[in-house]
Amino acid sequence: MGGGGSRFRAIPSVEAAAQAIERLAPDVPARMAVRAARDEIEVVRAAVTRGRQAATIDAIAEAGVLRARLVLEDAPRRVINATGVIVHTNLGRAPLSDRALGAVQAAGGGYSDLEYDLTSGRRGSRSKHIADVVREVTGAEAALVVNNNAAAVFLALEAHARGREVLVARGESIEIGGGFRIPDILRASGAQLRDVGTTNRTRVEDYARAVTDETAAIMRVHPSNFAQVGFTESPDPTELARLAGERGLLLINDLGSGALLDTAAYGLEREPLIGDALQAGADLVTFSGDKLLGGPQAGVVVGTAEVVEPVARRPLARALRPDKMTIAGLRATLGHYLRDEAVATVPVWQMIAASVDELRERANRLIAGVQNVHLVESRAAVGGGALPGQTLPSVAIEVTSLRVGADALAARLRTASPPVLGRIHAGGVRLDVRTVLPRDERVLRETLQAL
Ligand SMILES: *Cc1c(COP(=O)(O)O)cnc(C)c1O
Repeated sequence: MGGGGSRFRAIPSVEAAAQAIERLAPDVPARMAVRAARDEIEVVRAAVTRGRQAATIDAIAEAGVLRARLVLEDAPRRVINATGVIVHTNLGRAPLSDRALGAVQAAGGGYSDLEYDLTSGRRGSRSKHIADVVREVTGAEAALVVNNNAAAVFLALEAHARGREVLVARGESIEIGGGFRIPDILRASGAQLRDVGTTNRTRVEDYARAVTDETAAIMRVHPSNFAQVGFTESPDPTELARLAGERGLLLINDLGSGALLDTAAYGLEREPLIGDALQAGADLVTFSGDKLLGGPQAGVVVGTAEVVEPVARRPLARALRPDKMTIAGLRATLGHYLRDEAVATVPVWQMIAASVDELRERANRLIAGVQNVHLVESRAAVGGGALPGQTLPSVAIEVTSLRVGADALAARLRTASPPVLGRIHAGGVRLDVRTVLPRDERVLRETLQAL
């Protein structure tokens, strides 16, 4: 143990390591240098316990600086999404339009008439700014915006089905991911789930048979990132609305993504339109702000005033209300739809609408003068639970290397600044151009050149 003892004695003190960190990086505050030093010395001590030599004080200082700077950095970090998945939940879903970004910045960087009526000089309503535009763009009679769609669904159930039953088709009793499971949300809201039909087939009669005095609502849920094929059946929305009307039940439709524009115009199937769901007779429709809508994270409840107002009056609506920057970003995003310019301005729709020729042209610009890359055909996806299994034809830059494998290449791209995320495919990394924002093209080209 004599050799072990001397190895332990070679470990510098926390104080010495902290001073070394501060000498190396004067931008690291003293308090953080001490913390980083303590953490690094713990790592060294563990290594020595396993029989290793103690790291030098210089090595400890370098590792400490990296550790401290990681905490000091702004986060989440901007990354380049070259995965080909347009609404990528792990990468922050919808990028905002320039105008929406400007609105967020203006709202966040100053005072605003958020809850102030400039005409009367009195207190105003925060929700009015956004509810008016949501009503205009969806055609709904009333609207409420909350933090996300999970909150919208929860609040709708809590307001209208607490202590009562809600009928949900077995094939729609789904998990979306991130712990959002329909049965759990129902239970948390105080409602009772009543399963209807079979996993693959549910008819209007199945709902009709399940109605009791305890039933408050029928809820439809968009299956999102899961698709049923083969021997399947689900009820006609209008007939289901008729049944709900006859039995005095509420018809709730959780669209998940929901869309204001028709994806069928771009070679995809039709993702349910918000307007269609309302037209088909749903009393209350919920959807996300940051999926196909292309705005900031938010959840939207639309429907008749009689149904939406009680939701807005629940005490929990206050706890789930959106921030001013969200309201500003969402309103600006909806403004693009009102002005009929969303396909040209909302990034999610620009990406959906881009033609393969356009993408090839952009890809060619991106790889001009870059070694070890070539263009390949690719398939991009909408993501965000919309149109599972369906893809858009796309163009990808395939990066290969004779010296390093695909995993190492992908790791290099991930650690570039900004990080670039692609897909590993057949010994190389594919960077799908459809999801690369035009504003990131220059830096992506520089990253490829430096690779
Ligand atoms: C995505 C999704 C949700 C959750 O929406 P968030 O805005 O992420 O809270 C709820 N229901 C369905 C059907 C979804 O697809």
